[in-house]
Amino acid sequence: MPRALIYAANWKMNHGPREAREFARRFLEFTAPLAGRELWFFPPAVTISALVEAFRGRPDITVGAQNVHWESKGAFTGELSLPLAKEVGARIALVGHSERRHLFGETAEQAARKVAAALAAGVVPLLCVGETLADREAGRTEDTVRRQLEPVAAVVQPTDRPRLLIAYEPVWAIGTGRNATPADAAEVHRFIREWLGGRGWRDRTRVLYGGSVNAGNALALLAEREIDGVLVGGASLTPDGWAEIVGLGG
Ligand code: PEP
Repeated sequence: MPRALIYAANWKMNHGPREAREFARRFLEFTAPLAGRELWFFPPAVTISALVEAFRGRPDITVGAQNVHWESKGAFTGELSLPLAKEVGARIALVGHSERRHLFGETAEQAARKVAAALAAGVVPLLCVGETLADREAGRTEDTVRRQLEPVAAVVQPTDRPRLLIAYEPVWAIGTGRNATPADAAEVHRFIREWLGGRGWRDRTRVLYGGSVNAGNALALLAEREIDGVLVGGASLTPDGWAEIVGLGG
């Protein structure tokens, strides 16, 4: 039985509802549901409902939010609560993407609160972790990832553990055209699983790789048994380009 792979598209601050509908129309022409393949989309918040509607009837496709707040309502200008995200159809949420951490100062503790809130709301969190180039060059990759995981592991109840997914995204590989080698990525994925295992996590946590994935390198990355899928920014923005990638490695 082949392992299930997740192909997750992070559109960042691209594609409003109109563009997303056109994307979906073309993408659906290129892709049929495939057993063992899940397609995830993280559009901008204003686009979630349009994409949910456009993909209705495709249970292999799930749509979610790029960021959520841990409070369910209140005076938090500019934030997106989990109840609001769910109301427009979000079933998954990115948490702690490196752009949130490095451009907007999000801390590991805040990411942990978001993970806990998402799980409590019935939304599947995809927690992003990863080191900077300086961390890697100083031999601090595992230490950095461990410090990002620690507060999260502390707030996830044992029964919720199977519902948390992790994306290993080295910061130096995001949007740079420079991806981690499959072997380097697999080594960090193994470290993540071993570290969680050491904390009593018995289920095999699904870990995706992200960072300059494209049609030329996706297959080699997905050939690694440690890599359960890919989280893709730039190369997920065109329907034909993204359809080509999700057609690989299935
Ligand atoms: C991302 O946004 O998570 C990402 C990996 O971006 P890119 O594929 O463009 O490097």
